[in-house]
Amino acid sequence: MTADIIDGKAFAAGLRARVAELVPAFQAAAGRVPGLAVVLVGEDPASAVYVRSKGKQTRECGMESFEHKLPAETTQEALIALVDQLNADPAVDGILVQLPLPKHIDEQAVLLRINPDKDVDGFHPVNAGRLATGLHGFVPCTPLGCLMLLEDRLGDLTGLDAVVIGRSNIVGKPMAALLTRASATVTIVHSRTRNLPHYLKHADIVVAAVGRAHFVKGEWLKPGATVIDVGINRTDAGLVGDVDFDSAASVAGAITPVPGGVGPMTIACLLRNTLVAAHRNAGVALEK
Ligand code: NDP
Repeated sequence: MTADIIDGKAFAAGLRARVAELVPAFQAAAGRVPGLAVVLVGEDPASAVYVRSKGKQTRECGMESFEHKLPAETTQEALIALVDQLNADPAVDGILVQLPLPKHIDEQAVLLRINPDKDVDGFHPVNAGRLATGLHGFVPCTPLGCLMLLEDRLGDLTGLDAVVIGRSNIVGKPMAALLTRASATVTIVHSRTRNLPHYLKHADIVVAAVGRAHFVKGEWLKPGATVIDVGINRTDAGLVGDVDFDSAASVAGAITPVPGGVGPMTIACLLRNTLVAAHRNAGVALEK
């Protein structure tokens, strides 16, 4: 193996510590701590784990966590009524509805109901539009975390060739928008791309958000590339990423592991977004 391992776990711990450091100044100015509401509908075990760690890490940063656990048979109307209540609650700065929702609920209808200024997940079309047009908004947490890791490793991304594998609204598209904003030259590839390895051969940066275990092979990569593996795939061998780690690590310059790479950054960025939302909602300036 030649690649450096990008330690997302350590970076995320540092980010959470910086968020925690800024909470007391907010509290002094606003007379309250930032609040994050997390809504979980149903019993999906992976979602329950995420929601528990979000609540725990929110409290560890000195912020307030409002957790709403609703039964799987909750109606869309009842869920929307809860979102309306959280939109109106001045103690709630950020609202996160854990996906996926049960099949009988229209996810888009629920996400559209969240006040964009409390949409700390950055999934509302208003925030997608803000990102696309260069306005202040909320950027989805996973791609935001990937960008932080890339800038920490590479510094200025200007002019670098970046390939994003995947075009979902929560990872691929916002990742491409962030890299474009950072002046990288961005190519998005997806399931309909012809000759995908051809694009990777020239990429200084590869972000893999495919959802297929070991999809990206080392032989596809440009030597020295920085590889960010967003994938979380449950296999018999445990959690693995979208990148074939062993072959990629012998070609890449740096690579994120799974677990311990991008995963921990997602919640840390959620806390950061909540802190920013609190400052904006309370009209308090954020130090940095
Ligand atoms: P989606 O399933 O929504 O999107 C996957 C994308 O990969 C699609 O654009 C799809 O193309 C593309 N794709 C699928 N198969 C191929 C293929 N054979 N060749 C090229 N492209 C392909 O997934 P998400 O974006 O939501 O998530 C991606 C991965 O990241 C998953 O493993 C997920 O678990 C993980 N994830 C991790 C997070 C974290 O915190 N670390 C957070 C969010 C997601 P097309 O559009 O043409 O169908």
